[in-house]
Amino acid sequence: MTAVQEERTTEELKALAERAGRELEDASALDILRWAADTFGSRFCVTSSMEDAVVAHLASRALPGVDVVFLDTGYHFEETIGTRDAVEAVMDVNVITLTPRQTVAEQDAEYGPKLHDRDPDLCCALRKVKPLEEGLKGYQAWATGLRRDESETRANTPVVGWDEKRGKVKISPIAKWSQEDVQTYVAEHGVLTNPLLMDGYASVGCAPCTRRVLEGEDARAGRWAGRSKTECGLHG
Ligand code: SF4
Repeated sequence: MTAVQEERTTEELKALAERAGRELEDASALDILRWAADTFGSRFCVTSSMEDAVVAHLASRALPGVDVVFLDTGYHFEETIGTRDAVEAVMDVNVITLTPRQTVAEQDAEYGPKLHDRDPDLCCALRKVKPLEEGLKGYQAWATGLRRDESETRANTPVVGWDEKRGKVKISPIAKWSQEDVQTYVAEHGVLTNPLLMDGYASVGCAPCTRRVLEGEDARAGRWAGRSKTECGLHG
């Protein structure tokens, strides 16, 4: 049986994650993703918010045709959807778009309009957390673009860790990268990026909950600005 087909128990996956987290701390992003490709094969995917396609690009080098999961909340900027379409068209990846159970109109009818303003945690739970939970069911491991320098809440992100909530290995191959490292990789490899990054946005999420950042603010200051909320629940 190859690693690709291998079934593993939750305990085995957890032990694998903890060991890899220690052993791969100093490995390059590409080597971390090569380990993921060798270990999980098609049971591994990348999630992308389509802020940029850096991790998707790295993963496609390690595993051509890799699944890239995108959560279409129904609230994205059109530039984000355009980035998703461009990634699908030009990169050697398999883009999978997940959608919430309800359209925005259906959600408005049940919960009232602009739930994101009144109860963003519920809105994120319905439109992000739940669909991702469903969408990741067939995978043993998923990769994210989390970086330690993005915010205090992400400062301890392991390169490989255990996602207790979903019972999966969670891989953050560029956890140790700086914004400059990202820009260098984008320039060297001609990687697609969301046009909003050239328009004052440092982190791109749903349109109603994202604003441009001001000079000196950290990259995620433009997300849920004015609220104590800093994460959507996907990484908490
Ligand atoms: Fe809703 Fe805002 Fe969360 Fe998007 S980021 S799911 S609009 S609360």
